[in-house]
Amino acid sequence: MKVLIYAEQQDGQLKKSAFEAVSFAVQTWAPQGVQDFTVVLGGRVSEQDAAGLGNYGATLVLMPDDAVMDAFEPHVHSAVLLDALQKSGANLLVMAHTYAGKSLAPRLAVSWQATLAAAVNHPPEIQPDGTWTVQRTVYSNKGLATYQVSGERRLLSFTPNALKPVLQGSPCPVQPLSTQAGAGASRTHRLEVQKVQGKIPLTEAERVISGGRGLKGPENWHLIEGLADACGAATACSKPVSDMHWRSHDEHVGQTGITIKPDLYIAVGISGAIQHLAGVSSSKTIVAINTDPEAPFFKVADYGVVGDAMEVLPRLTDAIRRSAGS
Ligand SMILES: Cc1cc2nc3c(=O)[nH]c(=O)nc-3n(C[C@H](O)[C@H](O)[C@H](O)COP(=O)(O)OP(=O)(O)OC[C@H]3O[C@@H](n4cnc5c(N)ncnc54)[C@H](O)[C@@H]3O)c2cc1C
Repeated sequence: MKVLIYAEQQDGQLKKSAFEAVSFAVQTWAPQGVQDFTVVLGGRVSEQDAAGLGNYGATLVLMPDDAVMDAFEPHVHSAVLLDALQKSGANLLVMAHTYAGKSLAPRLAVSWQATLAAAVNHPPEIQPDGTWTVQRTVYSNKGLATYQVSGERRLLSFTPNALKPVLQGSPCPVQPLSTQAGAGASRTHRLEVQKVQGKIPLTEAERVISGGRGLKGPENWHLIEGLADACGAATACSKPVSDMHWRSHDEHVGQTGITIKPDLYIAVGISGAIQHLAGVSSSKTIVAINTDPEAPFFKVADYGVVGDAMEVLPRLTDAIRRSAGS
């Protein structure tokens, strides 16, 4: 088995999913006797950072030799990846089920003629005959489906936060990756990006504080932001909150918003409608704060506080700040 791993970067920094992808591949296939774990970087990072992926088990990192992959463009990235797959003779590609992964995996499954196991929750169970058993959530997180995966070439994408990266290894060699296959493949041209500064990206956050209509209005959002600041968390919101423009749409989680899987999700003044839960119920620990003891969120929460957000949030924030000594 020859494994290739797609690792994402943004603005020259490796994303959390890059470490997860390397760890996912190494932890799954090293025990199967696989020794080569080659990483294809989705853009340039520092030589030191690239080599550092070896600390997670990568044996070789291929870094683009020019700027053509630095900004994500699916046509370019899939063309370069396909070229790398064909040249390396790999029969497995591993990537995270992120925005980039959701866009690249189906394209590559078609062009590389591979079996796609998308959005799996855990490393596959590898059967003696080489087939895999994988699981993923279905029906908006209301069910868990199990699949058997076969085929000579396979592409696996895993949900972010599916496993913690593990240090095992030492810095590895970095070699240039030809991006020639991607030259001219671009169909869109990025004119401008307006970035929100200083915020933890929601999809990468390990802790998320989320507010709903129970917050009454945008003027009370400083309570959510204060708690998020004390916990080092990202902020999120329910759909009505973004529909009413209390918060921007990129914070909306749920069936029609972003799906997240943080270690800790604190839902404040959110009822717990099925469409909201679809995007957050895989969170490892869920805390609900709500005035209504019958709120559906309490049925899925690990911890619940029945109380008024305006009173609970300042006290909780204060307690966390005091315990952290800040
Ligand atoms: C097709 C479809 C897709 C949808 N997609 C999504 C989606 O992706 N994401 C999503 O969020 N919703 C989605 N919805 C909407 C969803 O059904 C709910 O209407 C929505 O989640 C409710 O938002 P909320 O909990 O903020 O508001 P509400 O339902 O109004 O709940 C507010 C909660 O705050 C509590 N509360 C009130 N005052 C306080 C206080 N002072 N302190 C503490 N608690 C208080 C109340 O008891 C209540 O439980 C979708 C709906 C449809 C039909």
